[in-house]
Amino acid sequence: MTAQMLWDGKQLTVLDESDIIVCGGGPAGIAAAVSARQAGANVSLIEQTGMLGGMGTAGLVPAFICMTDGENILAAGVAKRVVDELAKRMNIAANYNWMNIQPEILKKLYDEMIADAGVKLWLNLPVVDVICNDGKIEAIVVSTKNGLKAIRGKVFVDATGDGNICAWAGADFEVGDERGRTMAPSLCVMYAGIDWEKYREAFKATGKGFRELWFEYVESGEAPLVEWHLPGFFPTGKNIGTGNVGHIYGINCLDERDITKGYVEGRRIAQIYFEFAKSKVPGFENAELVSTASLLSVRETRRIIGECILNYADYQSKASFEDEIGRFAYPIDIHASDTDAEDQKRVERELVETRLGKGESYGIPYRSLIPKRLKNVLVAGRCISTDRRMQSSIRVMPGCFITGQAVGVASALTIKQKAEDVRNIDIAALRDILRLQGVYLPDVKAGN
Ligand SMILES: Cc1cc2nc3c(=O)[nH]c(=O)nc-3n(C[C@H](O)[C@H](O)[C@H](O)COP(=O)(O)OP(=O)(O)OC[C@H]3O[C@@H](n4cnc5c(N)ncnc54)[C@H](O)[C@@H]3O)c2cc1C
Repeated sequence: MTAQMLWDGKQLTVLDESDIIVCGGGPAGIAAAVSARQAGANVSLIEQTGMLGGMGTAGLVPAFICMTDGENILAAGVAKRVVDELAKRMNIAANYNWMNIQPEILKKLYDEMIADAGVKLWLNLPVVDVICNDGKIEAIVVSTKNGLKAIRGKVFVDATGDGNICAWAGADFEVGDERGRTMAPSLCVMYAGIDWEKYREAFKATGKGFRELWFEYVESGEAPLVEWHLPGFFPTGKNIGTGNVGHIYGINCLDERDITKGYVEGRRIAQIYFEFAKSKVPGFENAELVSTASLLSVRETRRIIGECILNYADYQSKASFEDEIGRFAYPIDIHASDTDAEDQKRVERELVETRLGKGESYGIPYRSLIPKRLKNVLVAGRCISTDRRMQSSIRVMPGCFITGQAVGVASALTIKQKAEDVRNIDIAALRDILRLQGVYLPDVKAGN
């Protein structure tokens, strides 16, 4: 007989059962699933869209950035494997500081990586709730074409980016700044038909590229949209390019109505930048806008409150922790929440001013991945337990791979050591296995 579980007064069929259930298939979820499997556990990975990769594929985010501290590869485990293989398939050299992404190649790479690891994959399967008792999740509830079903597990990883699973299970969280305002999201874009050779020659001759020309356009007063922060547009293939251009100000990415507004407004903004590019950027004259992201490119929603809140003082002191699971070094990068010109200009300044020196980085404690009060749940990716400034650093994809890999191994250890609570695992063993998996983990410095 098919197993059933009770949820909200309804009997749900149990669709799947594994030791570890990873919710969300972005960088954090992929790293968690692969490393947990490598550590010997059986794993199911549940993703709401039709592809793996999260922001790096469905979100059309153009590049993996800042995997190093200038001397060491900090994102050295699963992240490095991904970048090395992506470079091979894109036929370019791996660049650990800035690796452009061709999303179709990355999607297939992830499919193969997950299949090779032996992870049970479920696509197009949104998680909509949890069945949780006394801080322990027994199952997640998923929405299928045949109604709601349950997936049972022993340890659950929240890699949804938004901290949905933790929040539904009762974890505390913070959102945005003291007024609840969050960094504006974007809707990234992809163009085809770009003459990159012509673009590079013009840039060499004039020192003006996509960004400089956009700012000139805004300054001229002709631009239909005033925006003083433009992360950039990058080559992701012979004639194609992917852009992180434009922000959608004033929306809350946890609000259904605002999310809908975000997609519609994002596509309106995308058209404005595209028309600018065609008319003002050399090499873009014959470009075509082939796609806007299918997933709203969200920078910030919940920060789950964990056993330790990694904070900006830790960034400044380049802290080390006894339970350190990795180190990272991306600077503070808080995008503006609204159209205030000064605040938009601040973003790029702060990115430069807070950059750490060569060989400098901060540690990430295991406790920042353990949501308070929950016993069998770990969180990874952009919603781990940090203050707001730290979230803006750890949120980039290499940082999310690092925390994802740590929770994968920690989940597998929880099963292996029959720990009733993810807090009770042997931290030395966790660090040993992470090292064996290639993670960058120098000895913890005394006195921190
Ligand atoms: C516009 C923009 C530009 C950026 N630029 C860069 C950059 O250049 N380089 C860089 O390294 N980083 C960049 N980042 C940051 C980075 O892309 C994200 O912060 C990072 O991808 C977060 O990883 P994650 O795994 O935590 O979440 P995500 O990548 O968001 O993945 C979460 C996954 O969970 C799935 N999911 C969510 N809810 C559910 C649910 N209920 N059920 C099932 N599945 C669910 C989502 O569909 C998604 O696939 C950028 C971010 C944005 C928004």
